Amino acid sequence: MKAAVFYGPGSVKVVERDKPEPGQGEVVVKNVVALSCGTDLKMFMRGHPKAKPPVVMGHEFSGVVESIGDGVNLVKHGDRVVAVNSAPCGHCVYCKLGNPNLCENLDESILGFGIDGAYAEYVKLPQRVASFNLYKIKDGVEYLEAAMLEPLSCVVRAHRLVHIDVGDAVAVIGSGPIGLFHIMLSGLRGAGKVVAIDVVEERLDFAARLGADITINASKEDAVQRVKDLTDGLGADVVVEAVGRTDTWERSLNLARKGGSVILFGGCPSGTSANFDTYKVHYGELTVVGSFHHTPQDVIRALRLIESKKLRLRDLVTGEVKLDNILDVFHRLKEGKDIKIAIRF
Ligand SMILES: [Zn+2]
Ligand SMILES: [Zn+2]
Repeated sequence: MKAAVFYGPGSVKVVERDKPEPGQGEVVVKNVVALSCGTDLKMFMRGHPKAKPPVVMGHEFSGVVESIGDGVNLVKHGDRVVAVNSAPCGHCVYCKLGNPNLCENLDESILGFGIDGAYAEYVKLPQRVASFNLYKIKDGVEYLEAAMLEPLSCVVRAHRLVHIDVGDAVAVIGSGPIGLFHIMLSGLRGAGKVVAIDVVEERLDFAARLGADITINASKEDAVQRVKDLTDGLGADVVVEAVGRTDTWERSLNLARKGGSVILFGGCPSGTSANFDTYKVHYGELTVVGSFHHTPQDVIRALRLIESKKLRLRDLVTGEVKLDNILDVFHRLKEGKDIKIAIRF
């Protein structure tokens, strides 16, 4: 089979690999579509701490069950399915404490990083993923929509950590795919005003089309002042940082009103730190929340959202390539104008 293999920063090649065979509890999926992700671009450009090259990239996908190993009874050959990129072990201390997204053994099973992923004609799901986080795709749901399950699960996790009240003003920093998910979900949760902040005009146009009420180009105007102006001088009730840079982490707190909440969603490079105004956090009683990855419960809820058709997921896909042209994906994402690119097999 053809597979796009990551050998190290700047080095991804489409090569011939053996078609995987399922072992005990494992499921092999014939991919129909895979989606690009900002993390893939980061990995291509600078590597990734969890990547173990040479490894097949890709962790957002959907397809058809090709073969199943002994002991698999949830799915069978021919089923349309979607899975996410990992699953908790179920027995480490964090799994027992109810934080399976922080599972100590997560790294063992992350598709596209530690083990072969979905930028290939076939992908083998480890037993853990096949038993915790593999689902049949319901009739009426397209492969393309289902393939959004993993990133949407992460966004659902964040929204389950912070309450958005009816009529709240929500400011979302970053209008990439993740920021756009946050914008759509904030609207669905009853936000009165959703404000999108970015520095790329094309992305802000996207945000407006997908439900942002107001867009702010932070390279042209003072986002903090503008958000204050839009909220009677108070600031946003909820702020979402969906960029992953220390400077935007720092600025995100300045966008929140007293008593407001800030979700720090975008992961910054490891080893970095950020400075906060302690007065603002303490006397302003800010709730500042980190959000990482997803739990099986988040995945189920994200799947229900996809099935509800209430989010305009198809609109996030701005291009399509064949696996052979995988490098085009990275070049296009680097330009910053595409949202998600579909890889068809
Ligand atoms: Zn992703
Ligand atoms: Zn665990």
